Amino acid sequence: MRKAKKIKGLLIDLDGTVYRGKSPIKGAKAFIEKLITSQTPFLFLTNNSMRSHQEVQAFLEKEHHILVDPERVYSSVDALVYALKDAYHQVNHQQAAYIIGSEILKKSVSDLGFELRTNIDQQIDLVVVGLNQSVFYDQLAQAAIAVQRGADFYLTNPDIQFPDERGFVPGAGSLGRMISEVSRTRPMVCGKPEKLIMSGALAKLGLQVDEVAMLGDNLTTDILAANRMDMPAILIETGVHHKEDLEHFSGRPDYIVKDYEELGKLWQEISDFT
Ligand SMILES: [Mg+2]
Repeated sequence: MRKAKKIKGLLIDLDGTVYRGKSPIKGAKAFIEKLITSQTPFLFLTNNSMRSHQEVQAFLEKEHHILVDPERVYSSVDALVYALKDAYHQVNHQQAAYIIGSEILKKSVSDLGFELRTNIDQQIDLVVVGLNQSVFYDQLAQAAIAVQRGADFYLTNPDIQFPDERGFVPGAGSLGRMISEVSRTRPMVCGKPEKLIMSGALAKLGLQVDEVAMLGDNLTTDILAANRMDMPAILIETGVHHKEDLEHFSGRPDYIVKDYEELGKLWQEISDFT
């Protein structure tokens, strides 16, 4: 087990960690309230590129009575903006983007100064793919062609699937993989388990990598992302993965807690706050 410095801040996954859909997870609300009263720096880290900060905030409040500032949310769209700012420095208005994804994704890229185009007859400098649940074949085709013609290619998050009431349905990663296969080009991927979202969130917190722990329920996204950063990782067994899954998946948590009661005890040991 890692001998970490005292932890000053937390990155916290949402679904499976703070709630399960509309079902609460026992102790999560109280733990978050404790972080707020002790002024512990923390962000909710989500791969979801569909919801704005305000929508996540409203969901937490309405469904789970958890009251947080919308700025506590850091999504794969924020990571994309962080990456694009770095890659483009200054966007001149000649630069154009072709986007498959949500309104908040489009707005975020447009706010950086990119001109959004809905067809590729004119020059496209950047293709961004996120989840769009009413995507048309022609959009996938245009994105693939723009990438073949040399546009930079970014994918919000690599999730191949996510659950709905009927079973698993395609995620942004499925759309991205399709375009990647056709254009034979790998996208720059923003969400967990890639480092980009972790670096962006750390920059927003203003803390160093060894001062922050990642708390999550998924070995292949949350825990693996922390491992890649060499950041302390806490697996909480309230969601998809449990201790037994360690032999099947590559993420290696530094700590494993069963629930928020155990997390509370661990937090007293490893954190700067009590
Ligand atoms: Mg999760």
